[in-house]
Formats: sequence, structure tokens, C-alpha cells
Amino acid sequence: METKRPTVPAAEEILGGYFPVLDHGFVALVDYMGTDEDVERAARVSYGYGTRKVSQTRGLIRYLRRHRHTTPSEMVEFKFHCAMPMFVARQWIRHRTASVNEYSGRYSLMPLLFYRPRPEHFALQSTANNQGRADPAPEELYREAVARWERLRAMAGEGYTWMVGHEIAREIARIDLPLSTYTQWYWKIDLHNLLHFLALRADPHAQYEIRVYAEVIAGMVKRVVPLSFEAWVDYDLTGRRMSRVELEVLARLLQVDEAGVRARDGASFSIEELKAAGLSGREVRELLDKLHPPTIPDFELDLSRMRTAEEVAREMYEAVPGAFE
Ligand SMILES: Cc1cc2nc3c(=O)[nH]c(=O)nc-3n(C[C@H](O)[C@H](O)[C@H](O)COP(=O)(O)OP(=O)(O)OC[C@H]3O[C@@H](n4cnc5c(N)ncnc54)[C@H](O)[C@@H]3O)c2cc1C
Repeated sequence: METKRPTVPAAEEILGGYFPVLDHGFVALVDYMGTDEDVERAARVSYGYGTRKVSQTRGLIRYLRRHRHTTPSEMVEFKFHCAMPMFVARQWIRHRTASVNEYSGRYSLMPLLFYRPRPEHFALQSTANNQGRADPAPEELYREAVARWERLRAMAGEGYTWMVGHEIAREIARIDLPLSTYTQWYWKIDLHNLLHFLALRADPHAQYEIRVYAEVIAGMVKRVVPLSFEAWVDYDLTGRRMSRVELEVLARLLQVDEAGVRARDGASFSIEELKAAGLSGREVRELLDKLHPPTIPDFELDLSRMRTAEEVAREMYEAVPGAFE
């Protein structure tokens, strides 16, 4: 049946397709409502489809994002089906502006699927950033960690299987499953709040294990609303805020007038001079970072990795205790 609803061919191509993330996780775009044109229509309220040129839609969408006129982007909605380790879900659920329906471990049997980091992600604690990783750990530590994970998970899985085999309530049997166990949910969110989520979670400071989900979701958003996506990349993801002192520093380096902008002859700031201008040591490091040209990620989805809902459901089903008894 044909639909009267606005659709986008690039989004239709992936609708209902499951994209693997980590070792047993996935993200699927289950549904979406609205397109870039709907953002424009909400902003202008009175326009019908096809009455404006793409370049005008793009200009308006970029203006809205630059000036944080955000409500028109709340008119576009996304619904995802996602599976992730519980420790990732715990970071994800902090984003309160979505509607969530999680798999019930009280009602259903938990698939015994556990996340195992790959060796390149098994890293030492960073000394520069308390919330981050440094170089990968030595190989022998990884081998030992894998052996320990396997022992612990086998024991947790066996305890769970034993309890449900003895008709113990699932809500109790599950309590010692580790945070590496995969859970899943339906997650519905509007474009404005989704872009906020992506700005925090597709950022290099986010933990790798949630960032990879954000990157796949970003690839999906790019297909549904390419113009809003482009504006978000330019103004939010790779754009940077400047403080008053930072702007004063730039003003002393650059001459701005009606003719344009040019470097002031011989103007420069050493690190000491930046500090004397009022920036802390950390602000100086951050300013230098900001002034490097940004790397622009493309977030393209790899369509060859797309799986069907049936394949994914089968993997989950096979991992449930007693699946083939
Ligand atoms: C790199 C990183 C490290 C983090 N480390 C920690 C940590 O160590 N400990 C920790 O507890 N959390 C941590 N967080 C979580 C973080 O503090 C936020 O809870 C999370 O990122 C959700 O952000 P949010 O509240 O902006 O998003 P959402 O909940 O999606 O909210 C979106 C926006 O809506 C508005 N909003 C929503 N609810 C309210 C409300 N009740 N009152 C006022 N405004 C509201 C706010 O403007 C908010 O920005 C970390 C997050 C990141 C990205």
C-alpha cells in the first residue's frame, strides 16, 4: 500500500535492518516520522511540500541550528530497536528525553550473551584522563582477563540456568548476571534530543562501547534527515564554543573590519601570555585543541553488514537457557 506520509528513499533502504554493534549488540531503525522538510514546515508552519527549493530548506535548517531554534526539530521522531551490554544501557538511560521499553528479565528468560572487549580495546587506565583509556594492555594480561571473564560468566550463566531449571522466579534468578550481559530495548526519541545524545555519545570523550552505538545511529540519522545532520556536524559536533577571554585573544590576533578579516602583523600569544590573558592551564590546552581543524567523521553505514530481524532474533533465542530442550 502506498503511503501519504513523507518518506526518504535512503531511510527506507535500511528500515527494519539490523546493524551489528560490538560482539552481540545491534541497532535497527524500526520507524521514523518526518524528514528535513518537516523541520522546515514546522518552522514556517504554513508551507506545503515542494514549494521551496532544497537550497532554501538547507539555509533555514542551518539558521535554526546555529541560533538554537530547536523546537522544529522535535517534530521528527525515530524509533530504534537496540541491544547492548547492561553497562552501556546504564550510560544510555541517563538520557531522559526518550521513551524506553526494555526487555523484561522478570517476564522473559535472559539470553546468556556477554560482551567481550577485543584486545585493542582492553587498555590501561589513562593517567591524563580519569575517565579514559590509554594504550592497549599487554597481550598476556588480555589472555588472563579473558580466562577470568569466561570463568565468571560460565558460573553466573550456570547459576541462572540452574535456578530457572528449578522454577525459581526469573526476577530472582537473574540478579547475579554481570553488567556485561546484553539487554535490549525499544528507544523512541525526537531529532532534537537525539542530536543532543549523539553530540555527547559520538564524541571521542564518550566510552568506546557507547560511542560505537552512537556512530551507527548517526549513520541512520544522516539517511533520514541529511540536511539537519549536516548542520549538526558543522555547528555542534565539530563546532566549538568560545569564552569571552578566548574571543578577546582572537580579537588581538585578527583585524576585523568591513573589508574582511586579516591577521594582525606580528601578533602572537605564547602559552604564558595566554595564561596572563586569564586562561587556566586546562583552558589553554582546550583552546589549542579547539583551534586545530576538526576531523569530520562521515558516519556512513556499511550496508553489507545489515542483518534481518529473524537472524538476530534467532541468535538471541539460541542463547536462552534450555532453548533446544
Ligand atoms: C563523557 C561523559 C561522562 C559522564 N560522566 C558521568 C559521571 O561520572 N557520573 C554521572 O552521574 N553521569 C555522568 N555522565 C552523564 C551526564 O551527566 C548526563 O546525565 C548524561 O549525559 C545525559 O545528559 P543530559 O542530561 O543532557 O541528557 P537528557 O537527559 O537527554 O536531557 C536533555 C536535556 O534536557 C534537559 N533536561 C532533562 N531533564 C531535566 C531536568 N530534570 N531538569 C532540567 N533539565 C532537564 C537538559 O537541558 C538536558 O541537557 C557522563 C556523560 C558523558 C557524556
